[in-house]
Amino acid sequence: MGGAQVLIIGGGVAGLCAAIVCERARVSWRLLESSERIGGRVSSRIQDGCTIDRGFAVLLSSYSEIARFIDWNALDVRALRASARVWTGGRFRTIAHPLAHPAAGVAGLFSGLLSVRDVAALLPMAVGAAWGVPIPDPSARRSISTEQLLFKRGVTRNLVDSFFRPFFGGVFLDPTLGYDAAPFEWRLAMFARGRATLPRRGMGAIAEQLRLALPEHSRDCLVMRCGAQGIESGPNGAGWLVRDSSGGTHAAKQVIVACDALSARKLLPALPARRWCSTVTLVWKVKSANCPPPLRRPELLLDGTGRGPVNHAVSPTSVWPDHAPLGESLISGSVIDPAYCELSDADLEARCRAQFTAWFGSGVAEWKHMATERIAQALPRQHPEDLALRPIMHHAEGFWIAGDHVSDGSIEGAMRSGRQAAESACASLRCA
Ligand SMILES: Cc1cc2nc3c(=O)[nH]c(=O)nc-3n(C[C@H](O)[C@H](O)[C@H](O)COP(=O)(O)OP(=O)(O)OC[C@H]3O[C@@H](n4cnc5c(N)ncnc54)[C@H](O)[C@@H]3O)c2cc1C
Repeated sequence: MGGAQVLIIGGGVAGLCAAIVCERARVSWRLLESSERIGGRVSSRIQDGCTIDRGFAVLLSSYSEIARFIDWNALDVRALRASARVWTGGRFRTIAHPLAHPAAGVAGLFSGLLSVRDVAALLPMAVGAAWGVPIPDPSARRSISTEQLLFKRGVTRNLVDSFFRPFFGGVFLDPTLGYDAAPFEWRLAMFARGRATLPRRGMGAIAEQLRLALPEHSRDCLVMRCGAQGIESGPNGAGWLVRDSSGGTHAAKQVIVACDALSARKLLPALPARRWCSTVTLVWKVKSANCPPPLRRPELLLDGTGRGPVNHAVSPTSVWPDHAPLGESLISGSVIDPAYCELSDADLEARCRAQFTAWFGSGVAEWKHMATERIAQALPRQHPEDLALRPIMHHAEGFWIAGDHVSDGSIEGAMRSGRQAAESACASLRCA
């Protein structure tokens, strides 16, 4: 096959953003994607008239990379409430962002979740997260765990276990609170400064928008069902040759490996092995009239008991009613405890149903189970010792690594890494 100046391996968010940067810089590019669809871990599908995301995920309006690549109006998003209901002590208790929902924020002070000590500890944290300058760097490493940081700041164990563990457990897909304090502080700032949103056509619409940002004439440069299998130096050490799964060879002056950490290591065995956080998201359908009231609000429900198996639940149709046919509602429950993730589909569904029955009563028996989405490699684990293993972006002359495992395990991190790798590749071409 002929050559492009930049060859991008992987069509997830990172690879697509890299392609957009090359296109904007008028640098020729080709992107190899091993699967039959773009978007990688960001995807949605239609099943029985319902929009089902692969795992529960949200797009934060405070992400700064989004403005570079995504047209918010065209994406058409709606926000969830900046509050959560925490199941603890046999009932739901509300905790709310005091600026977004002042009444709920004040009511939350008396819900029994927050002690006076918690309020004193959270106040400076909240002010720093909302207005602090500079914004924490998600790619930094503080080498202390989030749990250590919270205790250092004076948050009580009760609030750590009932709110921080399930809420940020859902964000990092890690129930341990062992993740590094730097990516935690960045997320805290993102939640304090923006809102969690869901696109009208599901999270997969983000990838579709990125694809549409590439001009029509360049679409042939997206080569689907074409996995890279090996990378070697070009003739006389100039540029790179990439072998693909169909026996083809692609020559390029610059290569960007924008795969997930596991696939990147298959291409570059010298990269250290990363640990992963897994999740299983189960989806049910119910007649809207029978949808439990706590799920009718666009708000996250959290398991504050730590007993699970569901860590967080939400009704996507409370945000976008047209994610299900008229008169029906969707309910999504996510499991993040590795012990539960290992259960069989039937066993896990039965246990989730039992948990929801304790929360909402016997009407749960009417829920129709629609899907069980298992994602073993959902997010790279971000404990301090994991972050020490992050690869550097500049792997070799004309060779760049992108993807969320290079910066931060988020859409924002993937976008930033793809952009920065492509900007560096384009700059190298200009200097050559
Ligand atoms: C359940 C879940 C919930 C999440 N929630 C959020 C959230 O709420 N907010 C948030 O910001 N982020 C969230 N994330 C994280 C976010 O989705 C990821 O960090 C981001 O999508 C990673 O993008 P990527 O491009 O780095 O990697 P990927 O999406 O993994 O893309 C890599 C691509 O490379 C392709 N590939 C692999 N090997 C090869 C090869 N050899 N040749 C060619 N192609 C190859 C793959 O098929 C894939 O398309 C969530 C993730 C999951 C799974």
